[in-house]
Amino acid sequence: MIAKIDPANIRKALPSHIQLIAVSKNQPDEKIDAALQQGLRHFGENKVQEAIRHWQKRRLQYNDLTLHLIGPLQSNKVSEAVALFDTIQTIDRKKIALALADEMKKQARFLPCFIQVNIGDEPQKSGIAVDDLPSFYNYCVADLKMDIVGLMAIPPLDENPEPYFLQMKKLTDHLGLKQLSMGMSQDYQQAIACGATHIRIGTALFGER
Ligand SMILES: *Cc1c(COP(=O)(O)O)cnc(C)c1O
Repeated sequence: MIAKIDPANIRKALPSHIQLIAVSKNQPDEKIDAALQQGLRHFGENKVQEAIRHWQKRRLQYNDLTLHLIGPLQSNKVSEAVALFDTIQTIDRKKIALALADEMKKQARFLPCFIQVNIGDEPQKSGIAVDDLPSFYNYCVADLKMDIVGLMAIPPLDENPEPYFLQMKKLTDHLGLKQLSMGMSQDYQQAIACGATHIRIGTALFGER
């Protein structure tokens, strides 16, 4: 069971350094508009096309939105993603890092980015392997001059996420990064306790998808 969060009170309930990202994927327009009315301004989407549908117009009505890409990015969507989003949290391979760096130059939109780490070493999940993280980070920062601000991860389902969260915190500190995006509806309190700075909440805010 996922405890429902009241969007009107959530920010008061969270420590002030925690950035709440409302995950609006698969949600109907009414719920997105209600969240905006309740004052939420940071939103996460995991598909570029759906994000454009949800946010291209609303972006013009609200000039204080921050849109986070939290799903895997395909090369052919890079241009649209750079144009729409304010942060990309899912840098997960060299090819996409290179394509993003080129596109950001082209659009002169240098977005802060997170590297996604495959912290549970799961074959079906995206993300950089822990062992490859230092060299991948160097590639992004030194070779591509990307603005890497933090790490992001989704720990394995149906396991206690805490050891994974703690390892993510260590990796973040080790690279001297300040931001750490982890924790969803089920486990955001644990994530905060382990050092998350960004939590990504869908179901607990909006209800089931
Ligand atoms: C869908 C999604 C979330 C939100 O999940 P909930 O369990 O609904 O809170 C968070 N992060 C990512 C990457 C997602 O795809």
